Amino acid sequence: MSIFSKHMELANSPDKNHRQKSDLLMGNSFIRELLDGTEQGDFLGLDLGGTNFRVVRVSFKDGQAETTTQYYTLLESVLCGPVAGVFDFIAESLADFVDRYSLKNSRKNIPLGFTFSFPSSQVSINQSVILHWTKTLRCPDGIGDDPVALLEAAIARKAKDLPVDIVAVMSDTVSTLMAGNYLDRNCRIGLILGTGCNAAFVEHISEIDKWTGDDKDPQHVIVNVELGSFGDSGCLDEFRTEYERELDKYSNHPASFTFEKSCAGMYLGEFVRLVLTRLIREGVLFGGKGEKLTEGRWKFTTSHVTSIESDQGNSTTKTMEVLEKFDLATTATAKDIAIVREVVEVSSRRGAFWIATLMAVLVNHVALPEVTIAIDGSLFEKHPKYHDSMMEILSKFCSKSKVKLILAKDGSGQGGAFGAVSALRQAARDLR
Ligand code: BGC
Ligand code: MG
Repeated sequence: MSIFSKHMELANSPDKNHRQKSDLLMGNSFIRELLDGTEQGDFLGLDLGGTNFRVVRVSFKDGQAETTTQYYTLLESVLCGPVAGVFDFIAESLADFVDRYSLKNSRKNIPLGFTFSFPSSQVSINQSVILHWTKTLRCPDGIGDDPVALLEAAIARKAKDLPVDIVAVMSDTVSTLMAGNYLDRNCRIGLILGTGCNAAFVEHISEIDKWTGDDKDPQHVIVNVELGSFGDSGCLDEFRTEYERELDKYSNHPASFTFEKSCAGMYLGEFVRLVLTRLIREGVLFGGKGEKLTEGRWKFTTSHVTSIESDQGNSTTKTMEVLEKFDLATTATAKDIAIVREVVEVSSRRGAFWIATLMAVLVNHVALPEVTIAIDGSLFEKHPKYHDSMMEILSKFCSKSKVKLILAKDGSGQGGAFGAVSALRQAARDLR
């Protein structure tokens, strides 16, 4: 907690002698307006995360947000090809959505908020600069580009005359926070526990040393912490295991995003596989056999982890299903099964404790009597024990706040449309 607090401080007020730099790519999202229930009309959200791409329409009717979502799957070849290909795919999917829901004839352009879930440095509410690729994206180019400009260029290439105005670009943590706040007014933190991992929180502008915006109301802004890169300076080395070092070496983006690799969904399964591999090699597990597992880098996934964790009490049905996939079901003894379950449980708890530790710092920083953290992402959604493991840490270290963790399912997509609402509201306010 103290190392993370230090890096939060450094991100806010850089060390004047430049002796120490923050690991966090923390930045102002320029989003200051949260929803208040008076919204009207239609808005679009796009959500580019890493596994799925989604287009979302939110129609506000009598204070209720009605959401329509369409999923589009990005091919592996697109994920590692030129960045223009990724954005062409987005433009074509958006055109498909517009067609499918007959939005072409709307009287005016539909405001669109773009949830772009990769580390970026925000320039204004609808302009940012891509800093890194993470997770499944491995484009050879794109770093230094503005995702909004990339999308506008792709729309011009592939789907001219789409009736949309891109009015906001934001991190999925920011959109999840907005979606969570819509469900629960005490929500001040948005967290993603999916393929990647990151959080955002509501900050008072007076607390931001580098604040350059105006001081009109509201007096707060959402800050994206970009915490996946925490540890990149080596400050977490004493806590890292041989398994994290090895998975990093074979990951898409080695020697970066240290923290993310210790708990996000893209890595937890591989972490478990490496522990099991060591136990097999030492002859402790499966009588030293299990090639499909020991040779199957990245083949053991986080959905295998959540599945094994779903076995309750003495039931081993789910665990056996997973072992079957690695041709281990027939050789596994009762002791092997118990060991596998224990490795999975300890590894999951460890990840949950890591992220909860950082959340405890954010909760204490927000310092309100009640703080809700809204969470989107399949790791949190599908893992039966993640919530409780996180709460163990939060109740221990956040004695001044009553903390609640809520699932904001698909909040990152829906919140993209909410970001468009904020952008319009801010523009109207600036005219006043
Ligand atoms: C990215 C973040 C994003 C997170 C969750 C990370 O890899 O760096 O920007 O918020 O994944 O999707
Ligand atoms: Mg996502």
